[in-house]
Amino acid sequence: MNFKIDTKVVHGNSLYEVSTGAVSFPIYQSATFRHPGLRETTGYDYSRLQNPTREELEKTIANLENGKYGFAFSSGMAAISTVLTLFNPGDHLIFSDDLYGGTFRISQEIYKKYGIEFTFVDSSNYNNVEKAFKDNTRAVFIETPSNPIMKVTDIKEIVNIAKSRGAITIVDNTFMTPYFQRPLELGADIVVHSGTKYLGGHNDTLAGFIVLSDDKINEKMKIFQKSEGAVLAPFDSWLILRGIKTLAIRLEKQQSNALIIAEWLKSNKAIDKVYYVGLPEHEGYDISKRQSSGFGAMISFSVKDEAIVEKILRKVKVIIFAESLGGVESLITYPMVQTHADVPKEIRDRLGVNEKLLRLSVGIENSEDLIKDLEQALA
Ligand SMILES: *Cc1c(COP(=O)(O)O)cnc(C)c1O
Repeated sequence: MNFKIDTKVVHGNSLYEVSTGAVSFPIYQSATFRHPGLRETTGYDYSRLQNPTREELEKTIANLENGKYGFAFSSGMAAISTVLTLFNPGDHLIFSDDLYGGTFRISQEIYKKYGIEFTFVDSSNYNNVEKAFKDNTRAVFIETPSNPIMKVTDIKEIVNIAKSRGAITIVDNTFMTPYFQRPLELGADIVVHSGTKYLGGHNDTLAGFIVLSDDKINEKMKIFQKSEGAVLAPFDSWLILRGIKTLAIRLEKQQSNALIIAEWLKSNKAIDKVYYVGLPEHEGYDISKRQSSGFGAMISFSVKDEAIVEKILRKVKVIIFAESLGGVESLITYPMVQTHADVPKEIRDRLGVNEKLLRLSVGIENSEDLIKDLEQALA
């Protein structure tokens, strides 16, 4: 049956476990599985290859993204690393320049030394991507909205140019989740996630995902996943399944809080600029309306006076000064020294990731309490 997404998130892939009727999918805490006889298998041999709890989660995320195949990893970076093993020495990849710092770091610290070339461009302008193409370009990897400046890239436009040049499109969909945005439906080839963020939703578990539909890439990915072995543990798979059940209501509440807070920040004298995709004056608002069913709950803002940053980070009480995003608890981060410390200064300066920029992941608390908290921190 073709359920709507707010039903799919609750019931996962199987609705219930068939053999016992368990409504909460069981945690198969077993490293290995008995073979019934020589060359016989139950379908499960060893948990690095297959585990029933992880498989339920992998099928659930594939289902939510409208893809054929899902893969669960021990972190978002493990998923991104595994995607990058698709490429060979001499291949060239184009990346969004405003993206998660860890993705930038892995390209420079690890994959560059294996002979893969990277170009970083502002992918929200299609011309930059087109100009960056070379004969050996194999993929375009984008984040939209981007992290932390919230630039919106038109996924269909990128897919079209990549396809015409024989390259694939990879989208990090962490900020929007399949509840608001499904890149595979727009023609992308691979979706990656940090499941640590909205999918898990409770700031308690690290996880990562790859979702795709191409049979050939699937065969390769299965080999990479079992060879590298950075798979998600059964208990953590269950925690993410449980988190996903409330994805729809969490995101609705987080988004409505985010809009209220973005408007409030805009009206505050100490604030210079507010970056939130859900504000109609945001440059990417129209593209967002076209390709996504929501705007998410990530806000960045710059303050007029650098000196108040330290005060804000020390004084917030309800909002917690911590890395990460997407959970029920509101978190504030200082990208320049936390998530984006490894991005070179010239890129950060060009983007505006500077001393004055803060990033807010809006949680599900009462919006008045969040505003009061910001008010006292800014005072
Ligand atoms: C956090 C994050 C990652 C990395 O995921 P981990 O689970 O921390 O390894 C990748 N991309 C984005 C957009 C993120 O926010």
